[in-house]
Amino acid sequence: MKAIVIERHGPPEILKVVDVPPPKRGANEVLVRVRACALNHLDIWVRKGVEGHKFPLPIIPGSDVAGVIEEGETDYLKKGDEVVVAPFETCGHCEMCLQGNDVQCREYRILGESRDGGCAELVSVKAGFLFPKPKNLSFAEASSILLAPLTAYHMVVTRAKVEPKEDVLVTGASGGVGSSAIQIATILGANVFALVSNDEKAKFAKTLGAKDCIVYKEDTPLDQLFGKMRFDCVVDSVGGKVFEQAMRLLRPFGRLVTCGATSSPTATLDLRRLFFRSLSVLGSTMGSRFEMLKVLKWAEEGIFRPFVHKVLPLEEASTAHRIIEERGVLGKVVLEVS
Ligand SMILES: [Zn+2]
Repeated sequence: MKAIVIERHGPPEILKVVDVPPPKRGANEVLVRVRACALNHLDIWVRKGVEGHKFPLPIIPGSDVAGVIEEGETDYLKKGDEVVVAPFETCGHCEMCLQGNDVQCREYRILGESRDGGCAELVSVKAGFLFPKPKNLSFAEASSILLAPLTAYHMVVTRAKVEPKEDVLVTGASGGVGSSAIQIATILGANVFALVSNDEKAKFAKTLGAKDCIVYKEDTPLDQLFGKMRFDCVVDSVGGKVFEQAMRLLRPFGRLVTCGATSSPTATLDLRRLFFRSLSVLGSTMGSRFEMLKVLKWAEEGIFRPFVHKVLPLEEASTAHRIIEERGVLGKVVLEVS
């Protein structure tokens, strides 16, 4: 079959379509013919490599798969059905899995990051990790609402427990997780504010539901930028200085939920502010099958909307990576597999 295989880390040019043997379908697995695979920033890290982290090379990248069942079936899906694949798999039988805490399963593996993913004609996945594709979405659209919205759902709904009428600030608001968090907090009835890096991104954040947008300025601390505005919850994926300064924007009992550190993985925390104001810092990563199902239901009901920036053939994976790396991209870049 055709596939992109990363054998060594490097620039976008290393992403070439090669011929490899099709995956062997394991016990309780279903073979999916990939129709579309949406890309995430994670794909860039897998390609470039991350200092201090070892990816299992060679690997087929791609976490967000929509396709058609080619071989095998589940209790509720059969050959020929249109499906999306959860961007991860777990053991399915440990205490964490049985509690619904998929993320904390010791065998939690992300497609295209710690096991082969969807930049290929076929992918074999555990039967319990498939969902019917929302009927109202194309394959490209369906593939675009998986990893990032799942991560945002876990942050906003499960960890931060955002409630109607709360004031929520989303940082890194034009990225995959940030833009999903705006939509999700808006669906919950919160007043959502977005921190963005330019006017074009502000416009995008408003189409997602943000009530107001604040353009970030490197040399202006956030509490100056925001004046008297304070928030019940901050959804942060930027880390570093933004994390530090966003802590100052929280009302008493406010919480900051973090899932990433695109600017810097370290930040200073003033413990006095934390305890005097009864603040909470919540860590969050990816999500569970239950949460994936909720996002897909919202998508089928038309409440959660996909935003596809560009669809390219698998052969143009290197171009797709370059587009994402330019960081100007609003919405998802999707690879189509024919
Ligand atoms: Zn488990």
